[in-house]
Amino acid sequence: MGAAVPTLKIAEARPAPVPWLTPKARALASTTAAALLQVDGVSLEYATHDRIVRATHRVSFDMHRADRFVLLGPSGCGKSSLLKAIGGFITPREGEIRLDGAVVREPGPDRMVVFQEFDQLPPWKTVLANVMFPLTASRRLPKAEAKDRAMETLAKVGLADFAQAYPHTLSGGMKQRVAIARALAMQPKVLLMDEPFAALDALTRRRMQEELLALWEDVKFTLLFVTHSIEEALVVGNRIGVLSPHPGRVRAELNADQFGLHSLGSAEFQAQAQRIHGLLFDDEAAA
Ligand code: ADP
Ligand code: MG
Repeated sequence: MGAAVPTLKIAEARPAPVPWLTPKARALASTTAAALLQVDGVSLEYATHDRIVRATHRVSFDMHRADRFVLLGPSGCGKSSLLKAIGGFITPREGEIRLDGAVVREPGPDRMVVFQEFDQLPPWKTVLANVMFPLTASRRLPKAEAKDRAMETLAKVGLADFAQAYPHTLSGGMKQRVAIARALAMQPKVLLMDEPFAALDALTRRRMQEELLALWEDVKFTLLFVTHSIEEALVVGNRIGVLSPHPGRVRAELNADQFGLHSLGSAEFQAQAQRIHGLLFDDEAAA
C-alpha cells in the first residue's frame, strides 16, 4: 500500500432536499420518511460462559428502496451478527432496527436471507419444491400460484430446466441461484445476503456477481449484501458501509454506484479499492 491514503468524503444523505421544509424538518424527512431500513445505533452482544462479547458498537446506516448496500469489513467485525439482527434473529443490546418505520422484533417473510453455505437447501426437496416452500409455508400464496411464482423466479435465475432436479445434483453456483430464487420469490422488502459467493471458485463468483446485478436491473429489489472482499463490495454495491475490526463500528459510508464489473482494473477502481483498504486496515491513516 502507498503511504499517502487520501481522505474519503463521507457520502451525502441521498434524498433530494425538499426546499420548502425547515432544515430540521428536511433532515428528519431525509433520514426517516424515505428510508426503508434504518439501523440506528445498534450494538450487538453475545453472552458466553465467562464474558460478554460485543460484536458491533453503535452501528447506524439507512437503506432506501432498490439500494444495493454492502456491509464490508474484516472477518469477525460483526457483519453476520448485523444481518441476523436485521433478520430478527437476535435483539440489539442498544439501538433499534426499523423496517418501513416498524421496529424489527422477530423474523418475518419481509426479510429473506441467502447464506454462504451450499447446504441451505433441504436435500429431499426438488429445486421447485425448495423455491415454493416459503411461499406456501408462510401462506403467502396458494399452491398453484406459488408454483407459477417459483417457476417464474427460477426462469429469472436461468434454472427453469432444473425445476425437478435435487440440490445434490447441482453445482455450487446453481445451488446459490436456487437460494436466491427462493428468497426473491417471496418478494421481500429487503434481501439479505451473507457472503453468498465466498465459497465459490473465482470464475463462478464473478459470473454470480454479474448475474446478481442483471437480476437487480430486472427486478430492482432492495439488497443488503455482506462481504469481506473490497473488490466485491465495489462491484456489487451502490453504497458501501465500511466497518472497523471487532467490535464493528461504521468507519465510513461511500458511494460505489459508478463502479461495476466494467470498471474492474481501471485506475479509478484501483484507487478507490486502495482507499478502502486504508480505511479497513491502516488505523493511523484512516483515523
Ligand atoms: P463476521 O460475520 O463479520 O465475520 P460475526 O458477526 O460472525 O462476524 O461475529 C462477530 C463477533 O461476535 C466475533 O467476535 C464472533 O466471535 C462473535 N460471535 C458471533 N457469534 C457468536 C456467538 N453465537 N456467541 C459468542 N460470540 C459470537
Ligand atoms: Mg460472517
